[in-house]
Amino acid sequence: MGRRLLAWYRKHKRDLPWRRTKDPYRIWISEIMLQQTRVAAVLPYYARFLELFPDVQALARAPEHTLLAAWAGLGYYSRARNVQKAAKQIVELGEFPRTYSSLRELPGVGEYTAAAVASIAFGLPHAVMDGNVARVLSRVTAEGGDIRSERVRKRLRGLAQLLLDPKQPGDFNQALMELGATVCVPKRPLCETCPVRMHCEARKQGLEHQLPVRGAQGSADQREKKLLVIEKGGAVVFWQRTAESSRLAEFWELPEREQLPHAKVTGYAGVFRHTIVNTTYLVEVSRATLRSLPSGFRWLAKSSLQDIPVSTTAKKALAIYSRSK
Ligand code: SF4
Repeated sequence: MGRRLLAWYRKHKRDLPWRRTKDPYRIWISEIMLQQTRVAAVLPYYARFLELFPDVQALARAPEHTLLAAWAGLGYYSRARNVQKAAKQIVELGEFPRTYSSLRELPGVGEYTAAAVASIAFGLPHAVMDGNVARVLSRVTAEGGDIRSERVRKRLRGLAQLLLDPKQPGDFNQALMELGATVCVPKRPLCETCPVRMHCEARKQGLEHQLPVRGAQGSADQREKKLLVIEKGGAVVFWQRTAESSRLAEFWELPEREQLPHAKVTGYAGVFRHTIVNTTYLVEVSRATLRSLPSGFRWLAKSSLQDIPVSTTAKKALAIYSRSK
């Protein structure tokens, strides 16, 4: 299975910028950005990020607001803070960590990222396990257990390590992930073009559409939010999250209606849905005016917003507001 998979990968892999380098810094940044974010969404951020912070030293000394502004839109901002903490650690160390265990000591680097960087940048034999790999292996072995259970994850991790080509671990890991991302996709896998179809038990048993098995997961929480856009002379009212905020620390947000009970709502601008982790917000955006600005709020010039960290919810609300005018 390994040889066929690698041959297929060399021929069909997508040409992605992090695949053109062996620089551990660039590979690490790509792996962090790709956590929970699609490749197409990552591409422009990755290019811009590396222009701003071309090496670990530049990242370590970057002002936090520049870093967060460069990350704004990718979400999961703890990742941005962790990459900078890790960059500072690497600068102190004097070199990029070169082993799985030393990579694991970096903030924000879990098993997956350590295995990915160790194998791709340093050629070390550590198998990766992500959603794509888990799906492919559960189909190849017709795993009937719940893919979310620790027992099944452990079995699949063991299998990935067993299958790993120790001479080409980076390519092998990427090949399995690529297969999951482009051929063995969640819905309607493209089995006819799959390089490992003759080894695939799910395919042999006609189970490719039923696997992997996923146990029930709590349904996403639904909440409502009512945001106000209060604009005067090219400036808009915002408030800033504190540095201790568990989410989006120091990001700027539009006020919610209950934060400004004295604001006068003058019109409806629109509504949109926004999902954050397991919560879906139905966000209603209204125009409003305000006689005087209470403490804790600031007028920010609209022209300055691209240079400071503004939450994605606020950006979406402002876009809806602009279109409604
Ligand atoms: Fe996935 Fe189909 Fe390939 Fe099996 S044959 S690994 S189900 S794409």
